[in-house]
Amino acid sequence: MSGPGGPRSDEPLLSVQHLTVEYAVGGKTLSAVSDVSLAVGRGETLGLVGESGCGKSTLGRAVLQLNRPTAGKVTFDGTELTKLEGEAMRLMRRRLQLIFQDPIASLNPRRSIGDIVAEPLIISGVKDKAERERRVRDVLSAVGLDPDQVRGRLPHEFSGGQCQRICIARALVLEPELVICDEPVSALDVSIRAQILNLLEDMKRRYGLTLLFIAHDLAVVKAVSDRVAVMYLGRLCEVSPTEQLFAKPAHPYTALLLEAIPLPDPTVKPATNLAVGEPPSPLSPPPGCRFHTRCPKAMDVCRQVDPPMRPLDGGRAVACHLYD
Ligand code: ADP
Ligand code: MG
Repeated sequence: MSGPGGPRSDEPLLSVQHLTVEYAVGGKTLSAVSDVSLAVGRGETLGLVGESGCGKSTLGRAVLQLNRPTAGKVTFDGTELTKLEGEAMRLMRRRLQLIFQDPIASLNPRRSIGDIVAEPLIISGVKDKAERERRVRDVLSAVGLDPDQVRGRLPHEFSGGQCQRICIARALVLEPELVICDEPVSALDVSIRAQILNLLEDMKRRYGLTLLFIAHDLAVVKAVSDRVAVMYLGRLCEVSPTEQLFAKPAHPYTALLLEAIPLPDPTVKPATNLAVGEPPSPLSPPPGCRFHTRCPKAMDVCRQVDPPMRPLDGGRAVACHLYD
């Protein structure tokens, strides 16, 4: 499709370079995302994990230009989103979609399911009503709902899991290429999380999607991700292929997150290292490596110098002075 000089299929679909997002909070600057670079290949699922407040949602929203970044670039399929405005951004948006944490709150309570799922088609200018109805039916069936049963009903008539299916249908109806899933199962009952994760896997295959999958829980990203990026206080600590990250975490923070995963045997207590203090405030992050105040392996240099991200073997990268 692309001519010479256009996007190449071997380039990542999404590339984030030196992205910084700041918020003004009571006369101070809160740096929610600081100099983050990462790439997501076509058809890949990149998991993004870290404790609550580390900047995951801010990063996801900045990719979609819902929060304009303070600095850095976001490139999607060869186009720099950070430079797009108005109509050009609107046209691009249909290729990138977001699925939120709270499915019930993200559905308009007064609109029927059919209208909710058709809305992106109307906004993007699909004028033929029969065509819209066909696409709504197709996508509702794809997410495991019976179109005739659900189209005329309102969101409150559905469970959290069913509402998330509806949100997924709404996100997919325009057949996007990249979907950012922001904690899509965190608000759901444990018993239905696996169903929604399986559905996302099926949808990924069926629609050829690329996913940025955000979660605070490493166990959840393990199930779906090809690679995992670990974030702490607005910075990336480690990016590794999933299997290697779980077999041998490179960053001490990744190791602590792994230890904190509850064990299947309830009589064995999980390690509690992470309970050692809350993360510091992003309004005044520690100097040097931001993780040094909680790191069991902190050295003098860690208190002074912020470690840059550096490549390791096996497609891994880590920001840690242990690898200097
Ligand atoms: P996560 O999704 O990892 O929980 P967020 O991206 O929501 O983290 O938040 C990162 C940091 O930015 C937090 O300290 C949060 O309080 C702050 N923050 C998020 N949104 C805003 C906002 N609109 N205004 C000010 N601060 C914000
Ligand atoms: Mg969040």
